[in-house]
Amino acid sequence: MIKLKSKHEIKLMREAGKIVAEVLQEMENSIKPGITTAMLDKIAEKLIRSYHAEPAFLGYNNFPASICTSINNEVVHGIPGLRRLEEGDIISIDVGVRLNGYYGDAAATFTVGQVEQQTHKLIEVTSMSLEKAIEAIKSGNRLSDISHAVQDYVEKNSFSVVRNYVGHGIGEDMHEEPQVPNFGQPGRGPVLQEGIALAIEPMVNAGSWEVKVLDDQWTVVTADGSLSAHFEHTIALGNNGPEILTSPNLD
Ligand code: MG
Repeated sequence: MIKLKSKHEIKLMREAGKIVAEVLQEMENSIKPGITTAMLDKIAEKLIRSYHAEPAFLGYNNFPASICTSINNEVVHGIPGLRRLEEGDIISIDVGVRLNGYYGDAAATFTVGQVEQQTHKLIEVTSMSLEKAIEAIKSGNRLSDISHAVQDYVEKNSFSVVRNYVGHGIGEDMHEEPQVPNFGQPGRGPVLQEGIALAIEPMVNAGSWEVKVLDDQWTVVTADGSLSAHFEHTIALGNNGPEILTSPNLD
């Protein structure tokens, strides 16, 4: 069952989302060659707790950190640790926050120093595919119109979308119904209505879409070793269309 949110609930989610956005901004400011992902995790946790909010990922199914840090061929769910970022790396950071009983969830991929042109393109296309998805979140559209918007844009740009992991409803739980795949035919699934809140998160590989999970049971990597990028926002559909609740542009 999809739980539609009241205006008050969306306000609470906006407050959680604002912290998520600030953490991602702080991650971008902190990323530089030589920093470890564990240091980024500590910075994120401290900032989240400074708002008396909880890092949503810490302890989730025993995940040991406050953020996910996925470098280069790592797709999602990378565990922060002693690995140091190097010039030319890319890193996807996923942040979840719970505040006053409501969740915000977002991710972005950042560059470490100079990266190759094709790597920039992968990041741009992934980010833009999220924008295409958000444009598809309108009353009367169906759920799979969002999925199709991502796949269509990504594949037109000769990259591939990960099939095994999906976006999701969000609110009082971090993962609510419905699941939102990043691929599929348009015009299927439930009709989108005001009050729906979704975390949309395209994961895009430079090579094939296949992935595998490392022995740590968390880190998802591309099967062919190619680079992968990930962007995510929490979005609510209001009477004026989709509102990004994890936008860095909120005042
Ligand atoms: Mg998510």
